[in-house]
Amino acid sequence: MSPYLHFGCLSASAVLARSEDRPGGEAFARQLCWRDFYHQVLAARPDFPYTDYRSRGKRWRRSERLAEAWRRGLTGYPIVDAGMRQLEHEGFMHNRARLITASFLTKTMRIDWRLGAEHFARLLIDGDLACNTGNWQWVAGTGNDTRPNRILNPLRQARRFDHDGEYVRRYVPELATVAGRAVHEPWRLPPGERHRLDYPQPVIDYVAATEELGARIARGRSSSGVPRT
Ligand SMILES: Cc1cc2nc3c(=O)[nH]c(=O)nc-3n(C[C@H](O)[C@H](O)[C@H](O)COP(=O)(O)OP(=O)(O)OC[C@H]3O[C@@H](n4cnc5c(N)ncnc54)[C@H](O)[C@@H]3O)c2cc1C
Repeated sequence: MSPYLHFGCLSASAVLARSEDRPGGEAFARQLCWRDFYHQVLAARPDFPYTDYRSRGKRWRRSERLAEAWRRGLTGYPIVDAGMRQLEHEGFMHNRARLITASFLTKTMRIDWRLGAEHFARLLIDGDLACNTGNWQWVAGTGNDTRPNRILNPLRQARRFDHDGEYVRRYVPELATVAGRAVHEPWRLPPGERHRLDYPQPVIDYVAATEELGARIARGRSSSGVPRT
């Protein structure tokens, strides 16, 4: 519904009124509230799209190589690449894929959320300054979030939300012949099969990157620990 809400084809209050007495109506209303909330944050803080809502002293990495792999869906992490390819082809991604790809950019690659927000804004059909910024800052840990150090593990997310790998096979055609859940870890395939696939090796080691981030957080604060969602 987000493009229709964004362009004003539907009003949020009309949608809310229709959903109120239906099953799941309350959970749906909560989603609409996020939209309203971010619009209010933007009204109160017009610099929100460019400035950290809460500065947590983050140091971002500058790497055009990693940024470009992320934009083009060539990170070597199938679930991330599927999301980024869907964005490029359809101008849309499910919220879960947005969370996974945004976490990968800001927490695993440690690249500035503004680079990701700009790319999303350029391609999303529901691209909305307030919602896009609010969500990017939430994921990056600079926004209205009480758990700023949350990291989404792409493998766990893939197993949980793309159980059989259907989403990956659909958007990453190089992996279309890999059956079942094995598609989420092409690096584990037998060497012969792996080499036949025209698909990159991971551009960054997720485990090492998470440990590095954990160490940075520990150095920055006495209470450390990186929750791995
Ligand atoms: C990194 C990132 C960037 C995003 N960028 C945008 C954006 O530019 N524009 C946009 O509208 N949404 C954005 N979202 C929020 C969310 O992903 C989309 O609103 C949702 O996927 C749209 O699908 P739907 O209409 O089926 O949502 P439903 O789950 O059916 O929710 C109904 C409506 O509630 C609102 N909503 C739901 N979740 C959120 C949320 N987290 N934040 C704000 N509003 C929400 C939307 O208007 C949505 O249409 C972003 C999320 C992330 C993680």
